[in-house]
Amino acid sequence: ITMEYRHLHLLKKQGYINGEWVNAKNNGSFPVLDPANDKVITDVPDMDASDAKAAVDAAACAFKTWRDTTAKERSSILRKWFDNCQKNTEHLAEIITAEAGKPMIESKGEIVYGNSFLEWYADTARHINGEVIPSPWPNKHIMVTRHPLGVVSIITPWNFPFAMITRKVGALLAAGCTCVIKPAEDTPLTALAAVELALQAGVPKGVINVITSSRKNAPGVGKVLCEDPQVGCISFTGSTNVGKILYGMAAKGIKRVSLELGGNAPFIVFPSADINHAADQAMLAKFRNNGQACVGANRFLIHQDVFDQFVQCFKSKIQDRCILGPGNKEGVTCGPLINDAQVKSVSNLVDDAVSKGAKVLVGGKIAKSIGEKFYESTMLINVKKEMKIYEEEIFGPVAVCLKFKTESEALEIANSTKSGLASYVFTKDLGQAFRMSRQLEFGMVAINDGVLSSAEPPFGGVKESGIGREGSKHGAEEYTDIKYTLFSAL
Ligand code: ADP
Repeated sequence: ITMEYRHLHLLKKQGYINGEWVNAKNNGSFPVLDPANDKVITDVPDMDASDAKAAVDAAACAFKTWRDTTAKERSSILRKWFDNCQKNTEHLAEIITAEAGKPMIESKGEIVYGNSFLEWYADTARHINGEVIPSPWPNKHIMVTRHPLGVVSIITPWNFPFAMITRKVGALLAAGCTCVIKPAEDTPLTALAAVELALQAGVPKGVINVITSSRKNAPGVGKVLCEDPQVGCISFTGSTNVGKILYGMAAKGIKRVSLELGGNAPFIVFPSADINHAADQAMLAKFRNNGQACVGANRFLIHQDVFDQFVQCFKSKIQDRCILGPGNKEGVTCGPLINDAQVKSVSNLVDDAVSKGAKVLVGGKIAKSIGEKFYESTMLINVKKEMKIYEEEIFGPVAVCLKFKTESEALEIANSTKSGLASYVFTKDLGQAFRMSRQLEFGMVAINDGVLSSAEPPFGGVKESGIGREGSKHGAEEYTDIKYTLFSAL
């Protein structure tokens, strides 16, 4: 560990299996880098399929007793975990900023957001109820109960390294499941720190296990996590491509899946909208985490009557508010992109669009003077169908503004994607708001807002954006099976 990272409290450098911090059985380790400067923060074990198997065994063994704990006991542990994370907000945020690159203010925001799931599921744990249904037969009784699925395999991405774990683990612990977590190779340290705080809250050994692995070992680890017969559910957040691979493996054992995959969010502005408000919300929907969010606005569809006004307003906010730099520097609002692959992917999309006639209004290139992973906050107009950026998920700080004429045209463009996660609509016309809510083929619709995530509503997508919901009571029910018992001859 280099000097500057020694102050990071809660820095754990090993995987966690069956109540012990452990190294990889067969392999060495791999480095976790600070994307702002490519310095190594620390090395973590490069675990493989054999470590994953040991973790699944531990989780399966722990399930035998954890499933019989009372909802009240699980609630109390979740509440303590929430308290621990709250007390350690600053420390956890420093780790997120170090390995994910986010500005500190966003890292702290992620802790508040992610931690709200632990608080929510501490409450929800005690409300996972069954039902009694009136029987069609005399002298018989129909009882429906909910039971935990067993071991849940969790594979998470780097963009929200804390919240994507608490959202799943909070829900599954509430339901009475145990788990094995494989955090993203770019951001394992946040996961390890969060788990350390879970242990301090009294989570018993084997209930949570963590496998750290490099990208090279991810497929082998993923195979065990999806195919081991002891696993009851695979909960994944990440790209649609990897989601399809995991879904395929899960199919072999008819496993339950919860998939939160890519989005391609439209952000639609109608002429009745408050344009200044819409542009403020556009800043949040586009530039939070530098555009590296599955709910991030990907296509700004602006009615022709307000196109110039919106673009001007949005542009000046980008110029005023996007301050690029390392996440731990005071005043910075946009950090580096996570890795070289992301930088390449974003630059390729912009370069392709520009070569085919798109016009850059702000930004448009790597900010080399700050560092190789810093991409300027960018805005493009004159974007056309034949450009890759028209269709693909950008996952970076590039706002693409397109013009439309009618409501039905806006809907057609918005729905013409295989993804269906978040969507945003700005209008003061109530009828139009309801029509949009009904006709947008997305799991989530925000009317006059650019941020919609929290613990209370169900988060998730339709079409290729995924299966299942996280947050809300539905999030905990995802980790349960329904059992019907008939009592007869009463
Ligand atoms: P991103 O594009 O955000 O990196 P990915 O879907 O590639 O999204 O990665 C999300 C998570 O999936 C990471 O933890 C990564 O290591 C994991 N992953 C990638 N490929 C596989 C695979 N073949 N099997 C299991 N996990 C994988």
